[in-house]
Amino acid sequence: MKIFDCHADIGMDVLDKHLKGQTNILKTDHIEKWLTGDVRGVGMASFFKGDETLDTAKAMVRQLKIEIDQNSDRMHCYLNGDLHQEKINALLTLEGMCYIKEEPEVVLDWMFAQGIRIGSLTWNDENALATGVSGNPLRGLTDLGKRAIAHMNHLKMIIDVSHTNEKSFWDIFEASNRPVMATHSNARALSQVDRNLTDQQIKAIALKGGLIGLVSAKRFISLIEGENTALNLAKHALYIKNLVGIQHLCIGFDYMDFLSGFHKNGIDLDNASDSQNFVIALKETGFSQSEIQQICWENISTFLKQQL
Ligand SMILES: [Zn+2]
Repeated sequence: MKIFDCHADIGMDVLDKHLKGQTNILKTDHIEKWLTGDVRGVGMASFFKGDETLDTAKAMVRQLKIEIDQNSDRMHCYLNGDLHQEKINALLTLEGMCYIKEEPEVVLDWMFAQGIRIGSLTWNDENALATGVSGNPLRGLTDLGKRAIAHMNHLKMIIDVSHTNEKSFWDIFEASNRPVMATHSNARALSQVDRNLTDQQIKAIALKGGLIGLVSAKRFISLIEGENTALNLAKHALYIKNLVGIQHLCIGFDYMDFLSGFHKNGIDLDNASDSQNFVIALKETGFSQSEIQQICWENISTFLKQQL
């Protein structure tokens, strides 16, 4: 079954390897895995940990676009409307905006013009706009961050709240007049990590018509070693479905097999070629074929069409 994976740090991988002299990284390291896993849409994040400059941010987005163009026979840079039925849809996203120190409107305009359609103000860091999960819990969205949210609303750039601390989450929830996404977060009730969402947060996202992307990072599935499986990720799907309804679920696996220095993914969800294991797990958990299609493709496809 075809899958849209809303979050993978592809931009970072492409720029890092490009700077080491590697060419066509999408072709050598990614496309075959996507095809094996029937992953036909990917939220390709340009990912920033908190100390990168605007030049680095622009270089990452540019290099990713160059590579998508190089593979235009099999890839399509998605901007709006319907997803491409034959090619792998590349949806450009930003994870973290630490490089915005002033005039967020100018930077966001540039990013939007490059094709960026989803963005989070922070990674885990605390920056000029907002506060990530590792920042001061009492600090939320800043005045500059409020300008960024207003401008993202204006541009119709989707706001991603996966990495924000709780204060920033609620500040953004209040400031945004459009739905928000958590592109790669699970239910905190089933795995107590601060990157997962509380029941209140899940309900708030749903209330505004937003989406939650199920993530296969091992600790976000379960803190118990050996229980980080596709089947236990499907339990997060069931929990969220029972809380707010199937229409708010999608996928943001956040595969890290190609990144060094990061914690890993679930046992049977290690990389994009394993993605169909999640379809099997959803089936075993009791989801119907049409519900699985909603989670894997239709919810995000409809949401993007409506929002963009
Ligand atoms: Zn992330």
